Amino acid sequence: MLGHILIVEDEEAIAAFVQTTLERDGFKVTWVGDGVRALTLIGSSEPDLVILDLALPGLDGLQVCQTIRRRDHYLPIIMLTARDEDVDKIVGLEAGADDYVTKPFNARELLARVRAVLRLARHSAGPRRENRLCFGTLEINFTGRQVLKTGQPVDLTPKEFDLLALLARNPGRVFGRDTLLAQVWGYDFDGDSRTVDVHIQRLRRKLEDDPHDPQVLLTVHSIGYKFVADR
Ligand code: CA
Repeated sequence: MLGHILIVEDEEAIAAFVQTTLERDGFKVTWVGDGVRALTLIGSSEPDLVILDLALPGLDGLQVCQTIRRRDHYLPIIMLTARDEDVDKIVGLEAGADDYVTKPFNARELLARVRAVLRLARHSAGPRRENRLCFGTLEINFTGRQVLKTGQPVDLTPKEFDLLALLARNPGRVFGRDTLLAQVWGYDFDGDSRTVDVHIQRLRRKLEDDPHDPQVLLTVHSIGYKFVADR
């Protein structure tokens, strides 16, 4: 088996075409017709890739995509869209999909995108899929959403944890405030980038030995923040 792919598409004919195409190529496929069921299923069955229709009843594809991104920054997502104009929203900061396919598409096009996105996801460097990471005196448990500092549990709010998790999953990578805002708080959040600064300060007070001389959560002047792992 090449991997488990979740299809989220309310139009049965398209879903059936995608499912047949992928199964014939050796993938295990699960199909759901709406975003809520997709989010439940992602939590319980851990697919390797999600093919997500943009126009869904209830939660639309963008909202589903953002929710997935907030929970798991790395689950590969390919979006199905009816129009090329949606592309900026889909693969940009707003939603964070890995790629997109515009309807109508053929089997070969779909398979090429699926294979490319999976290949990239599997070959990306780093400990991204680890459930637990240790950095110096810090230990982050992603599944349990728990942080220990020198063995003692640290009390973090959900947003503080999401922000820390995103940075810690990508040690050394510089994130702009707007990127952090979009990925942790979502596109419909009615705040500005100072929200990010406030949360970083709180995290430093909770995690750094000396919050005024941070060694883990570093400011990158005029850009944003990065997590430093090599201590
Ligand atoms: Ca649809």
